[in-house]
Parts: sequence; structure tokens; C-alpha cells
Amino acid sequence: MKILLDIDEIPNYWYNILSDLPKPLPPPLNPKTKTPLNSNDLKRIFVEECVKQEVSTQRYIKIPKEVREAYIRVGRPTPLQRATKLEETLHTPAKIFFKREDVSPTGSHKTNTAIAQAYYAFKEGVKRLTTETGAGQWGSALSLATTMFNLKTTIYMTRSSYLQKPYRKILMEIFGAEVLPSPSNNTSIGRKFLQEDPNHPGSLGIAISEALEDCLTHEDTKYSLGSVLNHVLLHQTVIGLETKKQFEQINEYPDVIIGCVGGGSNFAGIAYPFLRDKIKEETSTEFIAVEPLAVPTFTKGLYAYDYGDTGEMTPLLKMFTVGHIYKPPPIHAGGLRYHGAAPSLSLLVKEGLVKVKAYGQIEVFEAAKLFAKTEGLIPAPETAHAVKAAIEEAIKARKEKKEKTILFNFSGHGFFDLQAYQEYLEGRLANYTLTEGKIEKSLKSVVLEP
Ligand SMILES: *Cc1c(COP(=O)(O)O)cnc(C)c1O
Repeated sequence: MKILLDIDEIPNYWYNILSDLPKPLPPPLNPKTKTPLNSNDLKRIFVEECVKQEVSTQRYIKIPKEVREAYIRVGRPTPLQRATKLEETLHTPAKIFFKREDVSPTGSHKTNTAIAQAYYAFKEGVKRLTTETGAGQWGSALSLATTMFNLKTTIYMTRSSYLQKPYRKILMEIFGAEVLPSPSNNTSIGRKFLQEDPNHPGSLGIAISEALEDCLTHEDTKYSLGSVLNHVLLHQTVIGLETKKQFEQINEYPDVIIGCVGGGSNFAGIAYPFLRDKIKEETSTEFIAVEPLAVPTFTKGLYAYDYGDTGEMTPLLKMFTVGHIYKPPPIHAGGLRYHGAAPSLSLLVKEGLVKVKAYGQIEVFEAAKLFAKTEGLIPAPETAHAVKAAIEEAIKARKEKKEKTILFNFSGHGFFDLQAYQEYLEGRLANYTLTEGKIEKSLKSVVLEP
């Protein structure tokens, strides 16, 4: 029911999928010249070691001893658990396994990269990190990681989440972080959006622009990103590498691997070490990336070069995108409200190695409630998307009478999302789906391949 690893079984290396992609990754472009970016351009913004990892094609990259020790403090190795009660309830012949990334003190997988980034920043003498946060999971993880390595941090939190989730803000402040609602008065880009709408709900795209501006206008400050980029996905592979060892212990191998996708980091974390097997040995494992219907990056977006932020400050990334001006509806899965997705994952979707699914908010909470009632764990609204897909796969296995092994990433718990659960229980939850006109307009903002 529960497969545990010893502390000394935490992997020594992260896995870098850039060494095994079926095609080379299209490079990030300088938005002015539309030519490939020089990695030196990134060094003013990001911690240097992260820039090195961003462009590295080395297959395995060593996890520093200090990072492995910090991983132990935050609960690694995490358990791999089997959802036997859920299986019984669904009358499925399938086995459902899930990886417990919710055991981290801040409640999600995000500490896996926050710790690595804070450690490298500390080593390089950086004094402060700026970042954005949506639901607050990333901000919480970076607040914890920066206090572990004696750094300061400033977090731009999308205003809708800042108002919906006051306890997330308090958690970050306990760890010593400065937390501002975005758009804020702290940056010129924030003031511009506030002028347009004093009650602007904010978006991850705007918050990224603010955190970048803050970084660029202060020496000793670097910017830190919680998803999308290669080095972030790299750090998350500790999840899948542990899971592989856990499956080896019980002589199992997953037939289906599922994760929810905001920027793609927890999906990549659990999936990429297994995707290597699919690319190299042509294993028949299916990979399913799950997104909300309200932000249909893969299912309705374009595979094209686009900005990573709304303020048009970032390099252009070749990715699936619904357009950088897209105003996502205020769904409770704040971590899934990003307009784009990681370039490596986008390429794998484009090449057909990863399949995609999209769900509405109400069906996702229904699945989360069933999971909570059967397994006793309350999923984060983001995670609930993966739960929904796992349940669908288990039902499919029942209909086909197949004994499949299903694996999904339990990316985080929902203890800070009880307001969303309250709305669901009281039947007040909005079922945002697409207003086609709105997405058509935002798709036009995509900066196409030159
Ligand atoms: C942030 C977050 C996500 C989405 O981000 P990815 O980079 O796509 O993983 C998913 N689940 C939880 C619990 C999160 O905090």
C-alpha cells in the first residue's frame, strides 16, 4: 500500500530530458532581434548555475549534498502510495498509485526546485530573490527555501489569490518574505495595470513582469521562476527518479502516467524519467497531461513563439500558448492559470509522446471529493485535475476489463483551498469554460515563428 525509500536512496542526480528529446529544442529568442538568445543575457536575471543548467544537454546533473540534506528536511524521499479504497469504490481492475508530493511543509512539489535555486543563489552571493506566485504554492516554497539559506525574498502574488487565500500570505510572512498583491504600486508595469483597473485580479503573466522589473532595478537581486524553464523541470525529476526506484521494489511499471499542468514542472517531474524509457526502449506507457478547460493551453492553443509574460519583458519561447494577453478566469486552481507551457513538454506534446486532456472546474472538485472520502487526503485544486484523469482511466480499465497500473502525481494538498471546497459543497462553484471570442482575440497576440 505504501512504498517507502530510505533517506540514502534520495537520487544523487537529476535527469535532464534535453539529452534525449526526439528533436532539438527550439532556442529562446531575443524579443527585439528575434535571434537565438545568448545565455549571457540571462545571467543578469537568473542565478548563474541555473543558467548553465538551462542550456545543458548533459543527461545527469549532480544534486549537491546541501540540497539533498534540505530535501530530507522537507520530507524526501516521499512515499509512493496505492489508492486501494478508491479502486474498490470504482470496482476497477486497475491499480492506482500516487506519489505524495503533498508531504512537503508548504504543501506541494515546489520545494524541490525552490531549495535548489535558493542554494545556488546563496553560493553565488546573491542577497535577494524576487518571484511571482498565483495560488501561493510557489511563493510559499521559495519563502521556506530562502529562509533555509539566509536570503531575502519579495513575492508578487496575483491579487485574486491574495484576496482568496490570506493564509498563504501569512505562511510566507512567517518565513520572512515580503508579499505584495499584483498588480502592485511597487513597479511601473504594476502601476500601469492598476490605472486601467484598480481592482485588477492580476495574472501570473503580470506578476512575472513585476518580479522581473524589481530584479532588473536592484543590484544583488535575482529572479526565480517556479515552473516552465528547463532547470526547474530538471530539479523536479527527483520525483520520478524516486518513483522508479519504488516501482522496482514491487516489480511494477506504470502503464499510464498522469499529471496536471500549469507550466509543466510537476508533470515533467514524475514523467520525464519514464519518458526516457519510452524514447529509448519504446515502452508502451501512456502519458497524460491535464489542464483546465478555462485555460486550454494544449487543447486550444498554438505551438508558436510567444512571450512568457503579459508585459512582454521575457524572451520568446517556442511553446503551446493561448496568447500572452489571455485573461484567465479566476478558477480555484490558481497554479494552472498560466497561458503557456514548458518548451520541452510542448515539444513532447507536439511529437505525440504526451497526450492531453482538459476538464471543467466542477467535475474536478467532484473527483477531489471522492478521493478525499476514499483515501482521506484533500487534493489541491490543481492536483484534483490529475485525480479526475486517474479516475477516468480506472473506469476505462473496468470497461475494457484490463489490469492496468495507473500512476499520478499528487502534487499538493488543499488545506489552503477550503474556500473553494466550500463553494463546491454549497453548489456555488462557477464552471468556467471558454468564451471562444475571448480566446480568438488572445491567440492573435501570439508572436509567431519568424
Ligand atoms: C504550482 C502547482 C501546480 C502547477 O504547476 P506545474 O509547474 O505545472 O507543476 C500543480 N499542482 C500544485 C499543487 C501546484 O502547487
